[in-house]
Amino acid sequence: MEHPLAQFLYCPKCGSSHFESHNEKSKKCEACGFVYYFNPSAATVALIFDEEKGLLVCRRGKNPAKGTLDLPGGFIDIAETGEEGVAREVLEETG
Ligand SMILES: [Zn+2]
Repeated sequence: MEHPLAQFLYCPKCGSSHFESHNEKSKKCEACGFVYYFNPSAATVALIFDEEKGLLVCRRGKNPAKGTLDLPGGFIDIAETGEEGVAREVLEETG
């Protein structure tokens, strides 16, 4: 699958052709410094129960709502399936 950012050849701010890959989610204009992010917004959560039907929750380490309880999960990255994204997030958040 071609990355969706491959179709953006010119900087949308200044029109420069020096619009290069910045990282997996963005391109950066070498002429004006503009960074364009292509962010998928689909998200997942995992409902993980133990034998006593207790639900696994996490405590948020960052704002917004730092310190409150949360379900493990998060945003799906480009080219990830929902299943791959939720598995990655659970591993990142619970080890
Ligand atoms: Zn530019």
